[in-house]
Amino acid sequence: TLGADWALDWIERARAVVSANRIELIELDRAIGDGDHGENMDRGFTAVGAKLAGATPSAPGEVLKTVATTLMSTVGGAAGPLYGTAFLRGSKLADGSLDASGVADVLEAALEGIQARGKAEPGEKTMVDAWLPAAQAARSAAESGAGPVEALRAAADAAAAGSDATIPMVARKGRASYLGERSAGHRDPGAQSSALLLAAAAEAAE
Ligand code: ADP
Ligand code: MG
Ligand code: MG
Repeated sequence: TLGADWALDWIERARAVVSANRIELIELDRAIGDGDHGENMDRGFTAVGAKLAGATPSAPGEVLKTVATTLMSTVGGAAGPLYGTAFLRGSKLADGSLDASGVADVLEAALEGIQARGKAEPGEKTMVDAWLPAAQAARSAAESGAGPVEALRAAADAAAAGSDATIPMVARKGRASYLGERSAGHRDPGAQSSALLLAAAAEAAE
């Protein structure tokens, strides 16, 4: 099962991958938004890294709760409250080590938080288009008897495919929706950052 050490490793990898992809996320957001997503996420995860340095959490939920509160106060824009809510909802289901169904529970809770906050439905070219297939993939892996590592790998792969699938979509929520049909042909930045975060979660488990 995946415990607090996994969660710390996940978030350290998330910080690193967000930093390494800062420019890419900026450019994606420049095409269909205001160009700040990479900066916002890098600022947030840098702050999270500082908060968690030297922490000795006893469960993944403690780590995820710190991520939630720190992202809410540092990221800003649309993504800050959305990710903050996702990590906060997820944290509540992670007060012990996670098996595969626990992983699915956390991802479903995160998705529900994002949808409660942002009201986006699948197909509207948002981070929901990464989190929904990720949560579904983790659930079906868990139901077919996979372990937590395989469930997270399935979730990460589904999130990557979900991010790809946003390219032809027309945005219906967030700033990109101001472009209407002209938003088609571009990857959604929040779906891409979500895919990066879930890839980091899987790598930390492997
Ligand atoms: P802002 O648009 O305020 O500058 P960011 O650039 O940090 O915020 O984040 C933009 C991302 O937020 C989008 O790419 C999209 O994935 C996500 N997003 C925006 N609005 C919503 C929403 N209502 N529901 C889900 N995700 C959303
Ligand atoms: Mg932006
Ligand atoms: Mg902005």
